Amino acid sequence: MEALNNILTLINEPVIQFFLWVAVLFVIASIFVDRRLSFWISSVGATYFWVKSQDPKVALKAWLVVLTVFAVVLFLKYIFNLNVVLLLKGKKRCPMCCEEAYRKAKVCPHCHYRFSSETDECKS
Ligand SMILES: [Zn+2]
Repeated sequence: MEALNNILTLINEPVIQFFLWVAVLFVIASIFVDRRLSFWISSVGATYFWVKSQDPKVALKAWLVVLTVFAVVLFLKYIFNLNVVLLLKGKKRCPMCCEEAYRKAKVCPHCHYRFSSETDECKS
C-alpha cells in the first residue's frame, strides 16, 4: 500500500508528469516516424505544451534533468572511455570492425575477430 502511495505522490510531481507526456508523445510519434525523430517531436512537443498551458519552470527543470543525464553519459564516455548505453545493453564494440557484439562473445559476429578478453574492444 505504501509503495502505491509513493507512486501516486511521484505521479503528482509536475516534472514526472512532463516526462510522462514525453513518453506518451514518443510512443504515438514512433508509430509514424523513426525513433530519433520521435524523440525530438515528443520532447519539443511536451516542452511547447508545458510552456504554453502549464508551468514553464517545470519544463526548464525537466530539461535540466535531461541535460544532466546527457552530461554524465558524455563525461563517462570521454573521460573513462565507458559507453553507458552499450554497457546497459550488455554489449561492447569489436576492436577490428567496431561493430556491436555481446560482452561475453568470444568471436565477433560481424568480422569473426577472436576477442582476447571481455574488455577487448574498439577504442575510438
Ligand atoms: Zn568485428
